Amino acid sequence: MHDVTLIRGDGTGPELAEATRRVLDATGVKFNWDVQDAGVDVMEKEGTPVPDRVLESVRRTKVAIKGPITTPVGTGFRSVNVYLRQELGLYACLRPCKQYPGVRTFFDNVKVDLVIVRENTEDLYAGIEFERGKPETAAVIDAINSKSKRKISTQSATTGVSIKPISVEGTERIVKFAFDYARENGRKKVTSVHKANIMKLTDGLWLEVSREVAKKYPEIEFEDRIVDNMCMQLVQKPELYDVLVLPNLYGDILSDLAAGLVGGLGVAPGGNIGPGGAVFEATHGSAPKYKGQNKVNPTALILSGMLMLRYLKETTAAEKLERAVASVIKAGKDVTYDMKPHRDDPTAIGTSQMADAIIRAMG
Ligand code: NAD
Repeated sequence: MHDVTLIRGDGTGPELAEATRRVLDATGVKFNWDVQDAGVDVMEKEGTPVPDRVLESVRRTKVAIKGPITTPVGTGFRSVNVYLRQELGLYACLRPCKQYPGVRTFFDNVKVDLVIVRENTEDLYAGIEFERGKPETAAVIDAINSKSKRKISTQSATTGVSIKPISVEGTERIVKFAFDYARENGRKKVTSVHKANIMKLTDGLWLEVSREVAKKYPEIEFEDRIVDNMCMQLVQKPELYDVLVLPNLYGDILSDLAAGLVGGLGVAPGGNIGPGGAVFEATHGSAPKYKGQNKVNPTALILSGMLMLRYLKETTAAEKLERAVASVIKAGKDVTYDMKPHRDDPTAIGTSQMADAIIRAMG
């Protein structure tokens, strides 16, 4: 029996979460669900989109699966999702991008099976920002100009500043995570992605630490790529890549690019993992325009559930679930609108019915 927090999310989150919970229960693995609400509707009632009870639940169960949550605009909350990752110390973002037969992609003759490992806590995403026109921004610009050979020549009245911290320890743990993942999952190669030719002291440090960590895994091939070249390579020869490890911002961008290669956000699962636990979630957002319509594709959240099963060492159930998802997608009959050749295809079925088809396919 596994204690798992189910964060239902908002927008289309609750219907996706319910479909996923039913599919996970049908694998035969026993779950003790602690269902928690979070998001914009909770914000209206409780004054915060993530009440303490949600964090307390995840700290207790150590494993959560989460429906998407809308980032409320103008409330002081940067992003609920970033907040959860930071509060729970979930430093690694795992995003496998695998092409399942039956999903329409640009690549019919190559097999894309990539795993993106994104650092979740540092880099330009650390949230250290200074707004133009503020006295603290002027002080930061003065400090930089007095210490740095290169100066910020524009005025603080017209200049915003974001800070990019990259540390040895932050890089070490994420690159180790990528290699350990490769080792445990029979992967052959890790590619470290950076812009060390330009940002020598941050991305340069990242590359240096990546090379050091790689020496401890001689059985796994290691290589590095500059991020702009990596984008081109992924579009032209995605089959050459296996596990990619990236700093936060590049990881954010390239995981969407890689999701696009394998058929888009509807099929892109993810997990955020740290020493104290893990939160599994789809890469896509809350698609609020479809809220309550039983319309959107549950595959990404269900595959996030498959990643959760693997994390819980329920490997047989994970494999059974993945096979069932793959067979439903391949048959192309019991799938949502986004997986049909035409978006207004009348044979498209709903979120809940696609979950039913996956449950049937598991036998
Ligand atoms: P989105 O992913 O919610 O939706 C963009 C479009 O993609 C939708 O209109 C829909 O056409 C399609 N789409 C998304 N998910 C789909 C699915 N499961 N099945 C079929 N089609 C799907 O992106 P957005 O509109 O930019 O963001 C909406 C909200 O979600 C924002 O507030 C954003 O901050 C938030 N968000 C949350 C998360 C998260 O919870 N981890 C991630 C990304 C965005």
